[in-house]
Amino acid sequence: MSEERIPLDVLAIAAHPDDAEISAGGTIARLVEGGYRVGVLDLTRGEMGTRGTQEDREEEAQRASELLGLRLRLNLGLPDGRLEATVEARERVAALLRAHTPRVVLAHHSVDPHPDHCAAARIAQEAWYLSGLRRLAELAGGPPARRPARLYRFLSHTAFEPSLVVDVSAVFSRKLRAIQAYATQLSPQDASDTGRHFLFGADLEQRVITKNRYHGESIGAEYGEPFLSEGPVSADCPLLAMLAAAPPTGAGTE
Ligand SMILES: [Zn+2]
Repeated sequence: MSEERIPLDVLAIAAHPDDAEISAGGTIARLVEGGYRVGVLDLTRGEMGTRGTQEDREEEAQRASELLGLRLRLNLGLPDGRLEATVEARERVAALLRAHTPRVVLAHHSVDPHPDHCAAARIAQEAWYLSGLRRLAELAGGPPARRPARLYRFLSHTAFEPSLVVDVSAVFSRKLRAIQAYATQLSPQDASDTGRHFLFGADLEQRVITKNRYHGESIGAEYGEPFLSEGPVSADCPLLAMLAAAPPTGAGTE
């Protein structure tokens, strides 16, 4: 894990390597194209996954990070399949928020059939709050207290009525390439692999296309990624300002 304090505009916090790409890869690509500094923090290494070794998954995450143009990819190495919102986990994440100073956090939706996703949602929300507590920052002895302005939830399995939908049509091919970087997760490994490891079937890529088509349709775009805000979205919210300054041109996607 990098000890450097690389400043970020946006940090996505996800349970497993590939969650951030699947749920927010288009928004990340669009922000990066607009010159914003985006990082991803994976809380686990996905070592309980049936397909691929831990080394495979690390290499895949590295390739996906390069495709998206991430400034930083970190992995907390918490236990996959047993992720819990412990005091230690939330304080480690809070320390990373103070160190890398993102203005916006993207995190899992709090309702999800996968317990790791629910735990990751809670860790991110609690860390977001704690990152702004001065005494806790002093106790930790690192950078001063600083809370990101906003936290938005991204979509995994359980649908929600979005607070905003980001048009990712122009960067959708890049998003798919980042997901395809996780090659071990996309196809059955051997004859005993029925392709039913994923909750709703094996064809992850097709499900991403369907969901993003559906949400794109809701805003008159080809592909869209939905986000949920707890409470109303301010017209001055930094994510909206960043997206407004990063119009969906798709420049540099090929
Ligand atoms: Zn996941």
